[in-house]
Amino acid sequence: MSKKRVIIVGGVAGGATCATRLRRLDESAEILVLDRGPYVSFANCGLPYYVGEVIQDEARLLLATPELFRKRFNIEVRTRHEVVAINRKERTVTVKNLESGTENAERYDELVLSPGAAPIRPTWPGINLPGIFTLRTVPDSRDIRNWIASRNPRTAVVVGGGFIGLEMAENLVHRGIAVTVIEMANQVMPLLDPEMAEYARRHLESRGVNLVLGQGVSGFESNGDEGLLVRTQSGEAFEAELVVLSIGVRPETQLARDAGLEIGDRGGIRVDEQMRTSDSSIWAIGDAVEVKNWVTDQFELIPLAGPANRQGRVAADAICGRDTRFRGVQGTAVCGFFGLTVALTGAAEKSLHRAGVRDFESVYLHPNHHVGYYPGAQTIHMKLLFRRSDGLVLGAQAVGEAGVARRIDVIAQAIQMKATVFDLEEAELCYAPQYGGAKDPVNFAGMIASNVMRGDMELASWNNLDSTTAFLLDVREVHEFRAGTVEGAVNIPLGELRARLGELPRSREIWVNCQVGQRAYYACRILAQHGFRVRNLSGGYRTYRALYSDEARELSNAR
Ligand code: FAD
Repeated sequence: MSKKRVIIVGGVAGGATCATRLRRLDESAEILVLDRGPYVSFANCGLPYYVGEVIQDEARLLLATPELFRKRFNIEVRTRHEVVAINRKERTVTVKNLESGTENAERYDELVLSPGAAPIRPTWPGINLPGIFTLRTVPDSRDIRNWIASRNPRTAVVVGGGFIGLEMAENLVHRGIAVTVIEMANQVMPLLDPEMAEYARRHLESRGVNLVLGQGVSGFESNGDEGLLVRTQSGEAFEAELVVLSIGVRPETQLARDAGLEIGDRGGIRVDEQMRTSDSSIWAIGDAVEVKNWVTDQFELIPLAGPANRQGRVAADAICGRDTRFRGVQGTAVCGFFGLTVALTGAAEKSLHRAGVRDFESVYLHPNHHVGYYPGAQTIHMKLLFRRSDGLVLGAQAVGEAGVARRIDVIAQAIQMKATVFDLEEAELCYAPQYGGAKDPVNFAGMIASNVMRGDMELASWNNLDSTTAFLLDVREVHEFRAGTVEGAVNIPLGELRARLGELPRSREIWVNCQVGQRAYYACRILAQHGFRVRNLSGGYRTYRALYSDEARELSNAR
C-alpha cells in the first residue's frame, strides 16, 4: 500500500498540532506543512507582550522550527510557501514559492486547511498611512517595535476594546506611551455583559487609559510631524503617533471558497464533528471554521487557540480512522491587563437573548478569592447564568485581581459535563486560607442559584429598578447606607430587622439589598418566614454601582 500523503495548509496553532498528532498515529504517512509566513508554530498569543518588552527575546516566540519538525517528527515544513489553489479533481494544491515566485502542484490524499483568520482592516480613508498596524504575526510585532524604537511615540490609539486591543493597550502603556482606546460598542470587552465589563472599564481608566466608548473610527489623516489624526464618526479627532487596529478577525476562507467548499452562515468553513469539510478528503480546523456552540446551539466563529489545537487533534484522529469527535465550543476565554483578570465561559446574557433563550436566570456575587482573614484577599465579581427550569449551568463571567481564571475554569468544565447549579453547590474544591475558602466562590455561586431554584429566595433584577413599585429595603449598616444607596431605599440594618418588622408594608413586595447580596439573603429568609413578599436584589449595591454609576448610565442611555 502506498503511503498516505497529507498536506497541511498553515503551520501554527491548528496545523502544527494536527501534523504532530498525525505522526504519532501514523509513522508511515508523508506529511507536508506549508505556511506562507517565515515561521511555523509561533506563539501568536505572546505577540502583545513582545511589543511591550515583557518578552524580550523574539526567539522565545518561536516554539518549533522546520528543523525540529524534520528531526523529531519526520515532518516536512516549507515556510514562505503559499497555497494559492486547491484542485479537488486532481487532488492537488498549487503552491507558490514566495522567495522564487515559482509555482508547482503538490498531490495530496488528505488536505487539512488551518489558514487562521486575518485581522480586519477596513477601507477607511487614510488606512494605509504609515504608523497604522495590525498584529497577527512575528513580523507584525517586529514592525511595531521598530516603529516605537525609531519614532519614540508619546501617544497611541488602539482601535477596538476586545481582548487583543486591551492587551495591546497595557503593553503600550508599559512602553511609556499614553493610550486611547476607541471602541464602537458602549463597553469594553464586548463579549461580556455590560455590567461586568464596567469593572474592566473602571480599572483601565484608573490606570490612565483614555477610553472612548460608543464611537466608531471613520478614518485617519496625517497630522504633520505630530503623526496621525484618528477621526471618529461623531466628528471627534484624536492625535496618535501610533495606531493599532484590533477590531476583530475574519476567517481566511478564500481558498476554500474558490474550491467550492461549503461556507457557513457566519462566514467560516463548514465542517462536521470530525472537522471534515463538504469534500471528504479535505479537513478544516481553527479560526477558519465555524463550529457549534453547545450552550446556545448556534454556529459561531471562535478564534481561540484552545479550540484550534483540539480540532487539529480531532482531524488527525479522523484522518487515521479514529472516531474522535469535536464536541463544540463554549467560548471559554481569559484576558489580563494592568493586574486585572477578566474571564468568561458559556453563554452571556446578551448571547442568550440573541439566541432567543428566555428560560434562564442570573445571579451576581462578589466573594473574596480567598478567606478574608488571610492577607491579600481580593474581590471577584461574578455572574452565573443558569436554566431556570432545571438549573443547568449556562455561563459565567468573572472579573478580579486574583483567582478569577481558576473559578471560570471549574465552571467551564461543569458546563461541558452538563452540570447544574446543584453540582456547583456540591463541588469539592481546593481549600486552604491562601487559596480559597471552605465555601469556594464556585460553591457560593452554586448555593445562591440553588436557593433560587429551591424557592428559598426570589430574585429581583436591578434592571427593573426604574419601573418597580416595590418597597426598597437596604439592610446594610447605617454608615454604609449613608455612603451611597439606591434612591428611595429605606435603611433597616440586618441586626435590627426582627425588631422593626412593623415598619415594613405587607401590601407591597419588598426588594432587599445589601452590599453584595448575602445579608439581603438572610433578610429575605427572615421576612419570608414572617409572611412578607420579598425578593433579593442580586449582587447588592456593588452590582447596582456597576449598572448605575454615572458613566454606566450615560453609556446605557446612549445604547
Ligand atoms: P493561525 O495560528 O493563525 O495559523 C494560520 C497560519 O496559516 C498562518 O501562519 C498563515 O500564514 C498560514 N496561512 C494562511 N493561509 C495560507 C495559505 N494559503 N498558504 C499557506 N499558509 C497559509 N487565543 C487564545 O486562546 N488566547 C490568547 O491569549 C490569544 N491571544 C492572541 C493574541 C494575538 C495577538 C493573536 C493574533 C491571536 C491570539 N489568539 C489567542 C488567537 C489564537 O492565536 C488563534 O485562535 C490560533 O492561532 C488559531 O490557530 P489557526 O491554526 O487556526 O491559525
